[in-house]
Amino acid sequence: MSEPRVLLLGAPGAGKGTQSKRLAEEFGIEHVTTGDALRSNKDMDIGHMDTEYDTPRAYMEAGDLVPDAVVNEIVKTALQSADGYVLDGYPRNLDQAEYLSEITDLDAVVFLDVSQGELVDRLTGRRVCDDCGANYHVEFNPPETEGVCDDCGGELIQRDDDTEDTVRDRLEVYEENTEPVVDHYREAGVLVEVDGEGTPDEVFEAISDVVDDAAN
Ligand code: ADP
Ligand code: ADP
Ligand code: ZN
Repeated sequence: MSEPRVLLLGAPGAGKGTQSKRLAEEFGIEHVTTGDALRSNKDMDIGHMDTEYDTPRAYMEAGDLVPDAVVNEIVKTALQSADGYVLDGYPRNLDQAEYLSEITDLDAVVFLDVSQGELVDRLTGRRVCDDCGANYHVEFNPPETEGVCDDCGGELIQRDDDTEDTVRDRLEVYEENTEPVVDHYREAGVLVEVDGEGTPDEVFEAISDVVDDAAN
């Protein structure tokens, strides 16, 4: 069959970015992530879309969702040029899920299950490469040299929204808006739940098995 189309769901910090990157390499598919796309375009003018704020930045710094019209457009454009893909960070509410169902079909929907306390530890210790976007954790996945990216030598930084306060807000936004999306796919009988608390290698094995099954 054609390349697999995979949706990876999970709370902020569940490991979606880490696993999506590996899946994209392993299966030769695109990594489509609204979070990275928005971070590269934080100051784009969205005023014409009739939004409360004029740029994504204000929403992101508060831990709120960027308006649907903005992210729907990003996803539509990205999926048009992708054969197979792993979608990470979208849909985050039921309206986005509805929109997604109108523009594509999915071969696998995977939910990474991680407990609340672990999520907070992962997010507050996360560091990302300012140059290539690689993900680290000060304790769980440290770079060889503190503050320096193993892959490209770039500087590791903490995201503005990975501070304790904003993390709490983001987890609330997740509960309120995105848990219903997880329930929606569960009720449709298509959700495969994976324990997200193993090592990154263990989690990767489990997701790869699901994608292999879906592709055969
Ligand atoms: P998400 O994209 O879902 O927000 P990330 O992939 O960015 O999550 O992971 C959040 C943080 O947790 C990062 O610092 C990452 O290095 C770390 N992490 C990812 N997977 C694991 C894991 N299986 N065990 C421990 N830490 C992990
Ligand atoms: P995490 O890795 O912690 O899950 P992301 O990088 O996916 O976080 O998202 C960071 C921020 O970007 C979110 O808090 C939100 O403001 C915005 N964002 C990302 N994806 C979406 C989306 N699908 N809908 C609305 N806002 C989004
Ligand atoms: Zn790097």
